[in-house]
Amino acid sequence: GADENLRELLLSRIHDVPDYPKPGVMFKDITPLLADAQAFGALTDALVDLCERCDADKVVGLEARGFILAAPVAVRAGVGFVPVRKAGKLPGATLSQAYDLEYGTAEIEIHADALAPGDRVLVIDDVLATGGTAEASLKLIRRAGAEVAGVAVLMELGFLPGRERLEPALEGAPLAAL
Ligand code: AMP
Repeated sequence: GADENLRELLLSRIHDVPDYPKPGVMFKDITPLLADAQAFGALTDALVDLCERCDADKVVGLEARGFILAAPVAVRAGVGFVPVRKAGKLPGATLSQAYDLEYGTAEIEIHADALAPGDRVLVIDDVLATGGTAEASLKLIRRAGAEVAGVAVLMELGFLPGRERLEPALEGAPLAAL
């Protein structure tokens, strides 16, 4: 069906790069997908559809590839775009959230005034791996007073427990992996 065709098209435009950025990691390179107008357009259509179905009125993109995927969705859905960035990149007052990595910790931030109480937010990123980044972003969104409408990723790495890790933080909101 249509979903299977979309899946095949998207998969055909994602390149696996072994041992990048370090040995043992299979990097999912989406630059061929972005360079293909049909594939990027079909992905954007599918994300706009999810945005409308979960009744979101803001789209949050996770640095950096989440920005590229989320911005056209926000424009097409007629909702605002809000960046969640790595620590130290946003110029205004921020809320910060630390989370655990395999080795060490990372920290992401959102502008403290970027979301309003009652906003319904769809989070978009390219890859759900361990789920740590997405989980931390949901905490930021709730701390900013907004509601989580859903999470949408281009792909989830099925051999990692990202979905399980994210599940409690979703509090019933949908997680879609295209
Ligand atoms: P995680 O917090 O482990 O779910 O990692 C998600 C973030 O890291 C996303 O912003 C992805 O862009 C990036 N990422 C993690 N693993 C990969 C991978 N194998 N290929 C490309 N990006 C990845």
